[in-house]
Amino acid sequence: MSETTPLNRRDFLRDSFGGGSALGGLLGLGLNLRAAQHEASRFKFASTREVPSVCPYCAVGCGQLVSVREGKIVNIEGNPESPINQGTLCPKGAATYQLAVNPNRVTHVWYRAPGATEWVKTKTLDWAMNRIAELTQKTRDATFSEWWETTDASGKPIKKKVNHTLAIASLGGATNDNEWNYVQCKLMRGLGVVFIENQARI
Ligand code: SF4
Repeated sequence: MSETTPLNRRDFLRDSFGGGSALGGLLGLGLNLRAAQHEASRFKFASTREVPSVCPYCAVGCGQLVSVREGKIVNIEGNPESPINQGTLCPKGAATYQLAVNPNRVTHVWYRAPGATEWVKTKTLDWAMNRIAELTQKTRDATFSEWWETTDASGKPIKKKVNHTLAIASLGGATNDNEWNYVQCKLMRGLGVVFIENQARI
């Protein structure tokens, strides 16, 4: 009779399946999937550094853990310590890894000048930020009004102090969270912009 060594769950995963691909086999054997998943992920994230982050996709702001190995992102998943999502992610958030690590990702700013038919695809983010700032200032300076001329209830002409521009609008997207929108509103109101829309309704 041969001697057998007791096999714990971790040894079983490592020896039989190599860790990461074990789950299908475990299902067939009727083992506890949650425990197996936990063990498999321990192998998957060996030698990684975990960086807490926030899902970039919507205003819910679910917490994420970004696993980094040798300066490269190797995985992104829900952060169990986040009070918002407690480790869960919706399908979009669960695909965040593909947003960061993807050969199809656009890494330069595309610019099509007024009247041009082709995109210039080599501009940098710094260039784009400077261009936006330049056009914002130019538009504001050219359209800023200190006074609004109107009439009162009796039809008498009056002037109201407004300090605004009606030539710029700020349109927020679904990915802007409360904090972003707060700062964006501060900036816009400081510039005198009155057309402000965002998902946070502030
Ligand atoms: S896209 Fe999904 S995972 Fe991301 S913050 Fe919104 S609800 Fe959370």
